[in-house]
Amino acid sequence: MKKAIVLLSGGLDSVLAARLMLQQGIEVEAISFVTSFCNCSQAELSANELGVRLRLIDIFAEIMGIVKHPKHGYGKGINPCIDCHALMLKKAKEYMLETEASFVVTGEVLGQRPMSQQLRAMEIIEKESGLEGLLIRPLSAKLLKPTIPEQNGWIDREKLLDISGRSRKFQIALAKELNINKYSAPAGGCLLTDSMFAKKMRDLLAHIPDPSWHDVQLLKLGRHFRLSDKLKIVVARNDEENKRLLSLLEKGDVMFMVADQKGPLSVCKGEINRQQQSAAAAITARYSDDKGKSGIVMSNGEGKEEVLSVQPMDDVEIGMLRI
Ligand code: SF4
Repeated sequence: MKKAIVLLSGGLDSVLAARLMLQQGIEVEAISFVTSFCNCSQAELSANELGVRLRLIDIFAEIMGIVKHPKHGYGKGINPCIDCHALMLKKAKEYMLETEASFVVTGEVLGQRPMSQQLRAMEIIEKESGLEGLLIRPLSAKLLKPTIPEQNGWIDREKLLDISGRSRKFQIALAKELNINKYSAPAGGCLLTDSMFAKKMRDLLAHIPDPSWHDVQLLKLGRHFRLSDKLKIVVARNDEENKRLLSLLEKGDVMFMVADQKGPLSVCKGEINRQQQSAAAAITARYSDDKGKSGIVMSNGEGKEEVLSVQPMDDVEIGMLRI
């Protein structure tokens, strides 16, 4: 029995690809990537439903290197999809060798995504990953060159599919037929494709060339304002974000909050002077229910506190500082 490593995002296409391999008697082991930009919990649900083992591989450091300098450019956000796919497949190849599997499988569909799933891009990705001939895309296989597993008869090409394009009608019908119910939305919700997130990421990279996991987590919440090259303020949008922001506090951060506690928590990261303290308090007041009438408490998180009296910053000025 041959074994395949399937890249499982938890999206419908990757689940179908895995199922098509299982139907052909192939032993399947799934891998999914922890990037900090996508949610991999769906992959775990799908692996359970498929009854296959799942290995999570953390590629945060490598993907950040690619986000900074993508050889093949970005998509509509700051998503370096061609380089990112090639990286994932390189990792899949390493895992394939380590586990003595025979080939790698993905749920890619020819022509489905404008950047990474065009024929030329798919060829580049296959070549750069070092998986030439050993990469099966079962959903579009009949439209692509026969691979080594097909040529060697490990899998039957006739039982593979010829799907192309962006419509998902065929996949949804097939999922019903195969009784597959648990799968996530297309694209897996990668934050790098989101234009608002991309703006914040570009600002981060312009000011911190080597951001940490922690810096990236902060981008996922709140409103962000740049007060100088060395200072940013993040303002939480609701109670849940207040809690998350508090959990991401680091030494040296300065907090601003409404004196009566009804309002957002704001956190300044970086070097802050007196004028910027007032600006941060004015921004916090702008988003508080009482517009800062009860005062804004500035705290270093280590017991040193001061109450600032400020007017809420006006929307024009706020708009100029917003990232
Ligand atoms: S959508 Fe995100 S995770 Fe997927 S290939 Fe593109 S950059 Fe990578």
